[in-house]
Amino acid sequence: MNIEIQSCGLLMLVILLIILLREKSLDLSRRRKFIATMVSCMVCVVMDIISVIAIVNASRGNFPDSATFVICKLYLIFLINVGYRSFVYAAGEFFDESTHRIVRIIYRTIVILGMFFIAILPIDYYCSGRVVYSHGPSTMVTYALAFILLVSTVLIAITGGKSTSRRRKRVIILWQMSWIIAAFIQFVRPELLLVSFAASFGIVIVYAELENPNEGIERVTGQFTANRLYTYTIELYKRNQPFSSMHLSVDYGAGDFDLELETQAMRRIAYFLDRDKKGSYIFRESDRDFVVIYKSEDKLYEDYERAREHLEETVGMPVKIAYTLIPDSRIFDNADEFMQFQHFNVRNADTSTSVIAGKSHAEEMREYLKTRDQIIWALANNGVEVYYQPIYNVKKNAFTTAEALVRIRDNNGNLINPGSFITIAEENGLIIPLGTEVFRQVCALLASKEPQKYGLEYMEINLSMAQFNENEPAGSLIRIMDEYGIDPHMINLEITETAASSTKQVVLKNMNTLIEHGVHFSLDDFGTGRSNFDYFFEMPVDVVKFDYKFTHWYFESERSENIVKSIVGIMSRMDLPIVMEGIETREQLDAMIDLGASFIQGFYFSKPIPEKEFMAFLREKSGEN
Ligand code: C2E
Ligand code: MG
Ligand code: MG
Repeated sequence: MNIEIQSCGLLMLVILLIILLREKSLDLSRRRKFIATMVSCMVCVVMDIISVIAIVNASRGNFPDSATFVICKLYLIFLINVGYRSFVYAAGEFFDESTHRIVRIIYRTIVILGMFFIAILPIDYYCSGRVVYSHGPSTMVTYALAFILLVSTVLIAITGGKSTSRRRKRVIILWQMSWIIAAFIQFVRPELLLVSFAASFGIVIVYAELENPNEGIERVTGQFTANRLYTYTIELYKRNQPFSSMHLSVDYGAGDFDLELETQAMRRIAYFLDRDKKGSYIFRESDRDFVVIYKSEDKLYEDYERAREHLEETVGMPVKIAYTLIPDSRIFDNADEFMQFQHFNVRNADTSTSVIAGKSHAEEMREYLKTRDQIIWALANNGVEVYYQPIYNVKKNAFTTAEALVRIRDNNGNLINPGSFITIAEENGLIIPLGTEVFRQVCALLASKEPQKYGLEYMEINLSMAQFNENEPAGSLIRIMDEYGIDPHMINLEITETAASSTKQVVLKNMNTLIEHGVHFSLDDFGTGRSNFDYFFEMPVDVVKFDYKFTHWYFESERSENIVKSIVGIMSRMDLPIVMEGIETREQLDAMIDLGASFIQGFYFSKPIPEKEFMAFLREKSGEN
């Protein structure tokens, strides 16, 4: 009897189903659709085999024709079902949920109608040797329907949504093509009953290429990967299914652990978390981070308490674990926000505390990301503007310098001050293009020689320590000065003490290169946490800028007045010019001049102003003198 090929197909599917069900997997709708396709394919192959047996026996008079017809029709109906299931599986990936539902309803109606006609229309069978098949109007309807479903699936794969990978499209097309080719071969050589085998074979291809759950398993700990975390949370948000989560960030302290020990530690943590699997999934989110997703909040707190009490000692080496709990996933609008928060929070991780994230944390992250996007937008759309704040030279009674201060304009035309974006730019590597842009604009202004005409001797530009992370910061600044033909003496770079001691050498090396070239340096924000004495002794700076808080401190009490006086005294003895920042009143101005300040910067003279206004200011003041 001609049932060998189908039996092979069936065997393949049974083995595959066993493997699939035994593997660690997530409850994803894609997987459920795949299993539905697979099971319907198995039923179809079984019906194919039964129908061949029935036809052969009926043709020999051993089995009633009427029962054979019913069996043949059932086979056709199940065949259509496989086509429909594969379509749903493929379409599920290509449409968003609401479109998908409409498409599904349309196709479901077509398929049900088709099945109805298969059931009521006449059918006949043919059997001669190994050539066994059914024919008649019922079979014709099946062909037509199968054709519609196959073509639709292929079309969806070709035109399908951008969110789907090329690989996925390719595999789905390959799967459907194998069916079409099998149907064609069977049409030409009816003794080769290939169609249901091709269906099974297609399922194996899809499994190997797209549905293999091992792909989503991280090798060291045997837990799900970050990629799977993303897929899974996308689905939970799509389904509107709230969940809770716990993020564990492992800190090995300052000492460098070797990889072997780290691997062992991560394995132990995974093992600890995996002890009671019900209602939770564990993901290794990055080298040193785990995320556990819980269906219920109670389970989250239970696990958290257990981990906090015992986990660190279980690891067997001195580690600190920072926990971030998200009791209710609805504080985020979607999986992207949820995923971004994992990193956002790691950034803020304080290993001594645990964070329970609520709405305010989500809001804070949105603000942060919004600002980051605004910087990116401004960089790409000429939204970076430089304002200038004139600085008064006490000895010359003139404005001989100014500080360049960056602003960005968002896409609504609003101006944003650096206080809210410099740190974010530094943390995201955006300070390098931003700093370069400011430097260019200043050089362009100086190249016009206009400010010099009105007495400007040099310009002060803020340099972030993060800019020293660039390969060759000194080199790139020198190149820009050369490009605009700027005398390096026209440039004074303001630095602060935010560099870690490990990068100090790099900073010094670059500073010296620039100094040799003729550039000067100021120590900015002196008196705040950002700049203090140790730095001031180590760094080759020519000017010290007193932060405005420090200046105001002078007026607070006799004690603080004396401290400021003695510090200023030390600097005068070293012949270091001082810039007093944040001078807002005449009284402050007089006091600072009496104290011995060389330069005064503050709203008393002018706020930071756009280039045009700044030029008008210089022109007016130089005319006065
Ligand atoms: P900073 O370098 O210490 O700049 C002085 C800040 O004090 C400016 O704020 C200025 O507007 C403000 N200021 C000046 N006079 C007064 C006053 O009399 N009263 C008060 N209340 N404030 C006064 P701004 O422009 O918002 O800049 C803030 C900080 O952002 C700067 O502090 C600097 O650290 C950073 N920044 C600005 N532009 C850049 C840049 O191009 N690159 C880098 N890396 N940082 C920059
Ligand atoms: Mg400054
Ligand atoms: Mg300052």
